[in-house]
This record gives sequence, C-alpha cells and structure tokens, in this order.
Amino acid sequence: MFQATDDYSDIRDAVGKLCQRFPGEYWRAQDREMAYPKEFVDALTEAGWLSVLIPEEFGGAGLPLSVAAAVLEEIQRAGCNGGACHAQMYTMGTLLRHGSQEQKHRYLPEIAAGALRLQAFGVTEPTSGTDTGALRTTARLEGDHYIVKGQKIWTSRAEHSDLMLLLARTTPLTEGMKKTDGLSVLLVDMRDALGNGLTIRPIRTMMNHATTEVFFDDLHIPAGNLVGEEGKGFRYILSGMNAERILIAAECVGDAKWFIEKAVNYAKERHVFGRAIGQNQGIQFPIAKAYANMRAAELMVREALGLYESGKNPGAEANMAKMLAADASNEAANVCIQTHGGFGFAEEYDVERKFRETRLYQVAPISTNLILSFLAEHVLGLPRSY
Ligand SMILES: Cc1cc2nc3c(=O)[nH]c(=O)nc-3n(C[C@H](O)[C@H](O)[C@H](O)COP(=O)(O)OP(=O)(O)OC[C@H]3O[C@@H](n4cnc5c(N)ncnc54)[C@H](O)[C@@H]3O)c2cc1C
Repeated sequence: MFQATDDYSDIRDAVGKLCQRFPGEYWRAQDREMAYPKEFVDALTEAGWLSVLIPEEFGGAGLPLSVAAAVLEEIQRAGCNGGACHAQMYTMGTLLRHGSQEQKHRYLPEIAAGALRLQAFGVTEPTSGTDTGALRTTARLEGDHYIVKGQKIWTSRAEHSDLMLLLARTTPLTEGMKKTDGLSVLLVDMRDALGNGLTIRPIRTMMNHATTEVFFDDLHIPAGNLVGEEGKGFRYILSGMNAERILIAAECVGDAKWFIEKAVNYAKERHVFGRAIGQNQGIQFPIAKAYANMRAAELMVREALGLYESGKNPGAEANMAKMLAADASNEAANVCIQTHGGFGFAEEYDVERKFRETRLYQVAPISTNLILSFLAEHVLGLPRSY
C-alpha cells in the first residue's frame, strides 16, 4: 500500500523478503513462550543487516544511519520485532566512537561476522530511573581490574548477548561535583562474568522483550575494558542517543504503517449492516488521521537523519522524531484494534501483540515527559523543571 518514497528501496525489499520467512505464526509462538526469536536474529545477522553501521575496515558495510533506519522500519512494517536485536546498531556506536583501536579491532570484526553479540546496554537502575546521574553501581579500580558492585534493571537481551556496555560510577559523588561526572563506560564480557559476580534474572513483561535485572557482586572487569576515558561515560552514552532515538523512531513509523495497512484491509473486508465497515466515516477518519500523523512523524525522522548525516547535532529533532513516531504508532495501534472490534483482541490477528509491543516506546528508551522537558528547556528556553 505505501510505496517507499525515499532511497534504499532495494534494501527495503530485501529486508521485507527476509521478514516474510517469519510470519505472524512465528511471532505468536515466541510471544506465547516468551522465547527469544533466535532464528530471526540469526537470519538478520547472516544477511548482514545488523552490521550495516560498522565501518568496512572492521568487516561491516559502512553505510549511513538512514540505511539502519530503513532496515528497522521495514522489519516493523512487516509485522516482525526488531526489539530483539536493534540495540546492537546503536550500542556499537559508543565503542566505535570512543573505544581504543585495540578494542575496535578485537570486537567489531567479530560483531560484524555475527560471532559476537553486543546487544546489552546497562544504564537504568531501580532506584535512579531516568535520573542517570544518581545511579549507584560502582566500579572501583584495584590493580589491573575494576571491581563492580550494584544492580541494573531493564537490561534487555542480557541473556542473549555476549557483551554488555555498562555505565557505572568510578568516582564517588562529592559535594559540588556534577552528578553526571565520574561515570564510566565498561565493556563487560558476560561469557566470563556469568556466575563469577554477574547474575541475570529475567523480568516477565506485557510483551516479549527478553528484559532482565542484572546484579554485580564484586565482578572483576579487566581495566583494559574501560571505553574511552574514566569519568566521561555519561557524555559517551549521550553521544549515542541521537542515533538511538532516530532508530527507535524509524521502528515506530514501521509499526504505524503495519497497523494502518492492517486496519485498512480489515475495514474493506469486514461487512456489518450489509456494507464494509470502512464505508463509515467513524471508521475511516481515525485511520486517515493516524495515517497523516504517521507521515508527519516520518518527515521528522528524515529531518533528524539528514542533520545527523551532515554531522550536526540533531538533539531536538531526534527527540521530536522519537516522540512523534511513538505517538503515531500508539495512535495507529489503538485505531487498528478498534477497527477490528472483538477480533482485535484475538491472538491470531497479531494486532493485540503488536499493540502491546509498540506501547513500550511511550516509555523506553526515554519517556515522553522527558522529551517534552528537553524541548521546553533546551529549545524553548523555559526554566528547567527538575
Ligand atoms: C521493556 C523495557 C526495556 C528496556 N530496556 C533497557 C535497556 O536495555 N537498557 C537500559 O538501560 N534501560 C532499559 N529500559 C529502561 C527505560 O529506559 C526506562 O524504563 C525509561 O527510561 C524510564 O525510566 P524509569 O522506568 O526508571 O521511569 P522513572 O524515571 O521512574 O519515571 C516514571 C514516570 O515518571 C515520569 N517522570 C520522571 N521524572 C520526571 C520529570 N522530571 N518530569 C516529568 N515526568 C517525569 C517519567 O516520564 C515516567 O513516565 C527498558 C525499559 C523497559 C520497560
């Protein structure tokens, strides 16, 4: 129904074809069992789609962010779920931009080849939440190791990843110090760590997202696994956030397209009172409105991508793209379920599953309120509210 109007139509077609091998039945089965969609992630990895952003010198395709956005959008648009593996695309950027040559040569080619997975990103903690500077996990340097103590929550894919990027406090917070200083990024090799100071506990959620709680009990991490300089970790994580927001926004646009297409098809097919329900404006208008909002969000995603790729800092555009696209997918999900009437709640239509999946993006990786606060303060010059 929606023709790709931007570039990369070959890539979009290829991703779409791969996704056809993973129809609704596949996702329903994973969802029922809360299972990790390994076959899907393996297929994407083998086809090279997860390493499009890794530079060619490290074995990736060295393509721009808009290609990664197109890949993730098509995955969602096809009814699949990139949440199982999208993080590798943006967490890898932290290593690429701030890691040492030794770290990049050691890890990136293996990630590009699919031999190593960097899917886990440990920032959020139970007590600090969005207030990242208040995190309590500490990493204390002793000889040639950091000793890590603390806890993370919502560390997604930790059970299905070899490596984790961890944000921990390396300098104790003292009077007058900026809360976001003294934090560092460490690369945790979870293969060595599991059972040796690292414990992972799955959290069951309303959708199948393989998310976990992670506990560090004097975990020893080689000092050489520090990414960049000590104390600058918050800045490194922030520098990857534009890419993260834009990619999640692209996924939401894909979700919105899936919901709208599904709603339109059903509205044409379903006959009640002797006519297609789609003949009623009460059914048409909400779908048309969701479509218009999706297209507006798509424009903002493109603007953010354009700025990002021209080397600018699209903090405001990336955040707005994420918020507008998450709102568009949420609206389209709601319209789609309403259009389906009772069948919207039946598992076999996939609508309720996708409805649950896309709801997450109102909250993660950043909640709508925090985006609005960012815009109010940094774009509109209003006083900081917190
Ligand atoms: C399924 C799932 C997967 C996730 N995956 C990861 C992951 O892989 N790695 C990771 O590090 N994190 C992950 N997260 C965490 C996610 O980024 C956080 O849940 C999100 O940033 C919100 O933080 P919080 O849950 O602590 O909410 P809180 O910070 O406790 O906020 C609760 C509510 O209060 C609002 N709020 C808080 N402060 C303000 C304020 N000043 N003004 C207005 N409103 C405010 C928020 O908007 C939110 O609605 C994941 C979360 C989920 C649910």
